[in-house]
Amino acid sequence: MNNYKCKSVGVVGAGIQGVCVGLHLIKKGIPVTIFDKQDPGRMASYGNAGHFSPYAVLQLNRPDIIYDIPKMLFTSYGPLALKWNYIPKMLPWILKYLKSSTKKSMMHTAKYMHQILNLSLDAYDDLFKEIDTSNLVERKGIIYIWTNKNKKSRDLEIKVRDQLGVKQKILNQKEILDLEPKLSPVFDAGAFYDYAYHARDPHGILIKLFELFLKKGGKFIKSEVKNLKQIDKDKTEITTSETNYSFEKIVLACGAFSKKFTDELGENIPLDTERGYHVHFENMDHLISRPVIFLDRGFGMTPMNQGLRAVGTVELGGLKNPLSKKRIDYILRCSKELLPQLKNHKDEWLGFRPTLPDFLPVLGPSLKNKNIIYSFGHQHLGWTLGAITGKIISGIISEENTNLNLQPYSSSRFS
Ligand SMILES: Cc1cc2nc3c(=O)[nH]c(=O)nc-3n(C[C@H](O)[C@H](O)[C@H](O)COP(=O)(O)OP(=O)(O)OC[C@H]3O[C@@H](n4cnc5c(N)ncnc54)[C@H](O)[C@@H]3O)c2cc1C
Repeated sequence: MNNYKCKSVGVVGAGIQGVCVGLHLIKKGIPVTIFDKQDPGRMASYGNAGHFSPYAVLQLNRPDIIYDIPKMLFTSYGPLALKWNYIPKMLPWILKYLKSSTKKSMMHTAKYMHQILNLSLDAYDDLFKEIDTSNLVERKGIIYIWTNKNKKSRDLEIKVRDQLGVKQKILNQKEILDLEPKLSPVFDAGAFYDYAYHARDPHGILIKLFELFLKKGGKFIKSEVKNLKQIDKDKTEITTSETNYSFEKIVLACGAFSKKFTDELGENIPLDTERGYHVHFENMDHLISRPVIFLDRGFGMTPMNQGLRAVGTVELGGLKNPLSKKRIDYILRCSKELLPQLKNHKDEWLGFRPTLPDFLPVLGPSLKNKNIIYSFGHQHLGWTLGAITGKIISGIISEENTNLNLQPYSSSRFS
């Protein structure tokens, strides 16, 4: 019997959010069942760049970027792309995004991303004490590199991080090449976050956390969830393809796929997706010692167990369009620009970042159904934010006091 009031929770989605929420709840002794239509961790949480990046407070809703967007869109060799057939559907999101790209909104997002990012590594380290992370987590920092072409944007990022007290070391080209000697010197400078770390296999880590969840008594049901509803004050229901399940509370953690459910629950939350891609260069992970992100190109490379993972680009195109070969070609060209020795690649992968136009996640109870708790919309940072999100959501469910200001993450900001 747990010491908390909540008697049972159903979690929809076994990505990093769902698994971390489930694990935190089961550790409190609250019975939990996680549902997923596939095996755990097969969507965004599978193919990401694996950065644990607590410094990444600045998002893409920024006044300096919006003027560059038209130029970026009309070149096929750019970090941003559109699937034109999806634009009419995404127009409301785009308009809200433009509205959120003021200095004030940028600083609001940065402040409240920092609030949770700042706790993100400690939250993982707590969980990592209970699993074997050898050969799964590497603690060598993360490097960003750039050319002086977009110097104004780089200066803005450095200034905002300084204002928020985010630790950063600005390096010149030589200092970067001392750390990563195999890189082509096609950049001018960069930043080193020596306290950040990376996953050598994000899916491997997620599975270890999931196994811990099962070991502690958590349940998993592999089935597509069709519907969620709150029946009364202490009862909610999850309907799968096969049957109905009752719980006291439900957590919605379906990443980019959460919008179908929030629409059905009567809330118009403007969740959409920023599509991203990866490829692997097998046996090439020795070329760099840590993740390197080339900001001008919107892409990066991470040394992983599967090889060197080259990851990136933002494509606005919804959940149904097929993978774009042009995006893969772009990543290949960027990779070879930095490491010309790279040759053949494998594993062309498309993933869906779940993103709100103000780039803050949605964390907290549904406005109309208080026993349905939202936990989605972590955009480019959902991997970093998994463990702290699990802690926050389990705290909400068990009605614990918190010093955090959770209001900025409420879905009420869209009502
Ligand atoms: C290319 C790329 C690179 C990235 N790099 C980084 C990085 O380096 N660092 C970082 O912090 N973040 C990164 N991210 C972001 C991060 O991967 C995501 O924000 C995070 O994985 C989202 O986790 P999630 O659990 O919310 O969603 P997901 O991992 O997408 O999980 C959602 C789950 O819900 C399930 N589901 C959906 N619909 C249903 C249904 N009807 N019934 C049952 N189950 C359902 C899905 O099967 C899936 O398992 C990256 C993302 C991409 C795409």
